[in-house]
Amino acid sequence: MKALIYKTLQEYFGYTDFKEGQENIISSIMGNGDVLGIMPTGGGKSLCYQLPALLLPGVTLVISPLIALMKDQVDSLTDLGIPSTFINSTLKQNEVERRITHASNNEFKLLYIAPERLESQEFRDFLKSVPISLVTVDEAHCISQWGHDFRPSYLSIAPLINQLPQRPIVAAFTATATKKVVQDIVHLLSLKEPEIVITGYNRENLHFSVEKPDNKHTFILEYIENHKDQTGIIYCTTKKEVDRLHEFLNLKGISICKYHAGMESAERNRIQENFIYDKYEVMVATNAFGMGIDKSNIRFVIHHNMPKNIEAYYQEAGRAGRDGLHAECILLYAPMDVRIQRFMIEKLPETAEKAGEYEKLQEMISYCHTPRCLRKYILEYFGEKNVPAACDNCKNCGNSHLVDITIEAQKVLSCVKRMGGNFGILFTAAVLKGSRTKRIKETGFDKLSTYGIMSNLATVQITDIIQHLITEGYLHITKDKYPVLRLLNRATAVLKGNEKVFGIAFQTPKEAEETYSSLFESLRALRRDIAANENLPPYIVFHDSTLLEMCRHLPADRQSMLEIEGMGRRKFEKYGETFIQAIGRYIAENNIEPAPGAIFKSDNTPVKAASHLITFEMYKLGKSIENIAAEREIILSTAKDHLLRCWQEGYRINLDDLIKSGYENVILDKIKEIGCERLKPIKEALPDEIDYFSIRAVIKKYNLG
Ligand code: ADP
Ligand code: MG
Ligand code: ZN
Repeated sequence: MKALIYKTLQEYFGYTDFKEGQENIISSIMGNGDVLGIMPTGGGKSLCYQLPALLLPGVTLVISPLIALMKDQVDSLTDLGIPSTFINSTLKQNEVERRITHASNNEFKLLYIAPERLESQEFRDFLKSVPISLVTVDEAHCISQWGHDFRPSYLSIAPLINQLPQRPIVAAFTATATKKVVQDIVHLLSLKEPEIVITGYNRENLHFSVEKPDNKHTFILEYIENHKDQTGIIYCTTKKEVDRLHEFLNLKGISICKYHAGMESAERNRIQENFIYDKYEVMVATNAFGMGIDKSNIRFVIHHNMPKNIEAYYQEAGRAGRDGLHAECILLYAPMDVRIQRFMIEKLPETAEKAGEYEKLQEMISYCHTPRCLRKYILEYFGEKNVPAACDNCKNCGNSHLVDITIEAQKVLSCVKRMGGNFGILFTAAVLKGSRTKRIKETGFDKLSTYGIMSNLATVQITDIIQHLITEGYLHITKDKYPVLRLLNRATAVLKGNEKVFGIAFQTPKEAEETYSSLFESLRALRRDIAANENLPPYIVFHDSTLLEMCRHLPADRQSMLEIEGMGRRKFEKYGETFIQAIGRYIAENNIEPAPGAIFKSDNTPVKAASHLITFEMYKLGKSIENIAAEREIILSTAKDHLLRCWQEGYRINLDDLIKSGYENVILDKIKEIGCERLKPIKEALPDEIDYFSIRAVIKKYNLG
């Protein structure tokens, strides 16, 4: 058998040797056993089932979510002289029938289908008439809700296999394998004592780096200009950012295309195809793009934002350099990315996994702050042992300029100690910076000897040093919604002057950060309105620096808003909620896709369980708005905002629930009196206890505005 396998490898595929893991997997399949192959992107998973497909008597059914790539794969197999075909939604019905007839006659060795096909009883019946020897499940992590690409239709695979007249061999493949996902694959596919083959995660040809540029857009532009004629992908967290970056680069004359789930599916397929065929050099996309992209010559993957965890990062970055040649993976970090990711987690329903998400996020943040080998960090995250301390192919290994930051570290550590270990990163940074916020006064921390001892640095730099100390094991951060800092034993040596701390030289951020400009602009517009209303110059309302701080840290509730520099108690009372709401809208509009645990429809269209719909689900269960807010840990006004939005989208909401009881007529009278062009005058003319939502709800209920 071994000789036959090698002969086939050479004759059909033209290779002399197997890549790591391939031979093992192929022998297991040929020995009639189930397998689960966990190999990195570019590891050569396809060959693991294509070669056995040639040798086995019947048909190999390949289930893959990647419709856009099926044609390519089938074309290249046909080119190798291996009869194969695919059936998916891109074909006309009579063509589907034609292919089905040929398949029933055992004319193909491989038949590719999308998982959604299996939902059709007719198709399942057809499969019963085909001699299937091997079922291959590609991108098998899609079966797990804990992976990042869950597809419900993958759950139809096991029932199908059980229905077949003779149980075929089952082979599953994926590049991602956390324990939980592996368990799910084995269990949900009902693999029979599978041979699990895990090859190393290392991708030697990838160069890793983390950058903290002041302006991400110009950084990317310069990078592209210095790497002319190279193909690359730039990932952004949100659709909006994709649009903005695309527009920016397009105006600068870069050959660029974009991809996100907000686009028509036909348009997405067209773009993807054009990119694969090198019609564009650079792709800007959300993580909706690229699962299993087989394009082998991608020379760089830049992350415009930090992803939610290392699994997601490594999978996306891993799309670079599948051909084994040098390629670069660059992550652009900014503190705002942390806030966005935290928001995304906060929105998830309360499950046991939610806490785990915070933990994974912190590991991702630490990746962005470690001064050590980035590759080692990643490989150890995936549980590899005995990884060499330096790889000589990442930014940190190439960076011989670690600087002594012992003094800064001592300042931070002693401040955490004095604060008693119950406060978060931003608040601690504010104390070190010497901010004059209400909460600092209340806690009396402005009396600490460490108050303001880092006032020469920008807040971002201080939070960076704190993150560095977490990464290096001097500080512990609790992993939950309100994480707080604690000193670890190792800190004592630093405080006593017995241990030095080294870090990456910190950069001085510039004031105007274009990266944040869309939020910055809308906050400025809000400030302009307020200022006009109150007849004040805008800077009296808030300084630019305060708006910038809001952009950096995205405060979402009273407490975090009060930690923003320049947000005193009076300012908060006057404007705080308005700005919290503006930031909330920004977060909502910039929704990440696909949300963790997103539900997929067929053909690659992710459907998000949007936050307001989660609120609606709870509302339908008869819960009060107060209870929903408490349970979801969102502020009351957000919950109300959600319901108003649902109402607008046509969901059945009883608007009376949003109107403060007993006040409906009072509000209605005022509206009749002064009109409803603007809400503020109405609000001011009414008793204080009536909130804006009551007014908005009345306007909607009577269809006035
Ligand atoms: P993935 O594991 O990501 O699905 P692929 O199956 O697409 O990877 O393979 C990645 C690349 O490796 C392809 O270009 C393929 O032709 C090549 N490849 C696969 N097996 C071998 C081999 N034994 N020797 C050399 N190249 C190989
Ligand atoms: Mg593949
Ligand atoms: Zn390294």
